[in-house]
Amino acid sequence: MNEGSSHLVNWKAIERAMKDAAPGMRRWVTKHASGMCGVGEYMQHWGLTETNECPRCGAPEDARHVNSCPSPEAQEEWDSLMDELGDWMTSVDTHPEIHLAIIHILTSANRAEAPTFQTLWALRKAMQQQLRIGKQGVVFGIMSREWERIQQNYYKDIGSLRTGRRWASLLVARLWSVGFHMWDHRNKCLHSEDNWANQRIARQADRRIRTEFQSGHRSLLPEGRALFRSPLAHRLRSPLASKVRWLELVQQEREAAAKQHQLLCQQWWNFRTYFGADSRESNPSG
Ligand SMILES: [Zn+2]
Repeated sequence: MNEGSSHLVNWKAIERAMKDAAPGMRRWVTKHASGMCGVGEYMQHWGLTETNECPRCGAPEDARHVNSCPSPEAQEEWDSLMDELGDWMTSVDTHPEIHLAIIHILTSANRAEAPTFQTLWALRKAMQQQLRIGKQGVVFGIMSREWERIQQNYYKDIGSLRTGRRWASLLVARLWSVGFHMWDHRNKCLHSEDNWANQRIARQADRRIRTEFQSGHRSLLPEGRALFRSPLAHRLRSPLASKVRWLELVQQEREAAAKQHQLLCQQWWNFRTYFGADSRESNPSG
């Protein structure tokens, strides 16, 4: 939120939405609205991960990136959440121009290529206030009080018994749900085998598996040779976890074989030294 704009914010709507929210959602909003959440930037800062990469696109990830990630999967998720939000706004008779304005603000906060937007004169004050407060906070329900006022008048105009106050707090909850689902989507990608970082690890694993097959198994002990029983193509088709495990085992077997080789050399050396010394003793004349 921009400095000096706090008095423009509809805190009452946030307070009401907080009261109605489940404890898990309350915790999520508190953490994420402050930006102190488990995104790449903080995970790296806390020493929990080595990089600050976004699991969906690989770019440096801060709290804002969760909603603005340019990966096709994230964009698709965002678009479907915008559709759902739009359906909800229609279902509660939201002023059609407010509907358009909110979707525009949310999308332009997160998308570089958002089109320009012309709104009704009546909504201009709300729009200006919202821009002063900031677009980034909208997904956390940090909205201008003007939206509620205009919506209340609209309900009166169309003869609806709904209230602008209730609409505003429900809208806040709906906005949180958008942010929450984007976060959930990001975490599902983080834990899926198909995420950006895992795809990179998978490519590295494939390269190393090919190198291991080129090096061959002749120098290995029988246990090590058994690891090469399945053909390369089969190994490359296996899940990432089993590829990584296989590479670890091959590495261990190569080390074991090297140690065995060293031991044999040592034994051969001892043998030669012993018999060499022995032969010198038994044949001092040379
Ligand atoms: Zn991303």
